[in-house]
Amino acid sequence: MNVLIVDDDMLMRNMLRSMVNHAGHQAYTANGSLQALELLAQNRIHMVLMDIEMPEMNGFELTELIRTQFSTWFPIIFLSGNNSDTYLEKGIDAGGDDYLTKPVSQTILSAKIKAMARIADIQKALDEANQRLAKLSSLDSLTQVANRRSLDAYLVNAWQTNSRQRGELSLLMIDIDYFKEYNDSYGHQVGDECLKQVASVLKSSINRATDGLFRYGGEEFTIILPFTPIDGARFKAREIFSKMAEAQIVHNHSSVDQYVTLSIGISCSSHSAIDEGELVSQADKALYHAKSQGRKCYKIYEG
Ligand code: GH3
Ligand code: MG
Ligand code: MG
Ligand code: MG
Repeated sequence: MNVLIVDDDMLMRNMLRSMVNHAGHQAYTANGSLQALELLAQNRIHMVLMDIEMPEMNGFELTELIRTQFSTWFPIIFLSGNNSDTYLEKGIDAGGDDYLTKPVSQTILSAKIKAMARIADIQKALDEANQRLAKLSSLDSLTQVANRRSLDAYLVNAWQTNSRQRGELSLLMIDIDYFKEYNDSYGHQVGDECLKQVASVLKSSINRATDGLFRYGGEEFTIILPFTPIDGARFKAREIFSKMAEAQIVHNHSSVDQYVTLSIGISCSSHSAIDEGELVSQADKALYHAKSQGRKCYKIYEG
């Protein structure tokens, strides 16, 4: 572990440094708040041993400052010559985790570091689990593409960025043709497999980092293309059709083809939409148009 020792007294710093080293950890030392904040910003510090009486900023104040400036948690242990109850209380209130009185023995310091390291490990595991959860809740579990919730956030952001920079924002609403018949004839499990295959075809059509693919719901997907005029969106729709043709997912109960096909509705911010909600409803209208024109085609909302 990397342990930061903050103390204005050089003798104390050196003594604590050798004790921390003796306990098998790497020690960093700071003589006050400035050096401490600098070391915290530049290094991965796992624990802080904090003196209280220091000239320019005391340990309580520095601890409060650290807790507001750094979002990741690490234990802060106070080391003070003052063993009064009020000091201990103040230390915990400031955001500290434990309080030791100087002089501290090697055994006690080593044991405290060990105990705090355990808590820090649990905290780290929790942080990682939370990150995994956050990622999971933004992904559709079946197809592993981003879900509807992510779409809403992404779209608002893309609309704002494009308006601000006078870019064009295109949107594709994609729907599988005769998917009810597919499910009815092959069963829901095979239907799920088909959705995964379509999702991977769509994924393979996403090339730019800023392009977004989402499962809108059911057998519908949405692609958002920031800074892309209508020609680019049309090109993308054609690319998707040719990839679907290559995929050859058999569908013997479709009225348009022997393979699974898609219909696509396209809208673009240059065609009268006043906000991102209207962009979606225009793509929906274009999709409806594609369906009514026989499916397996794309239509553009012209306004
Ligand atoms: P159209 O060509 O007009 O789009 O007809 P369609 O049959 O594709 O459309 P409809 O809206 O009538 O049916 C959509 C079907 O999609 C109904 C439902 O069984 C199926 N579906 C929706 N979500 C899922 C899913 O997660 N898994 C499976 N297997 N099927 C789904
Ligand atoms: Mg001091
Ligand atoms: Mg549908
Ligand atoms: Mg459909």
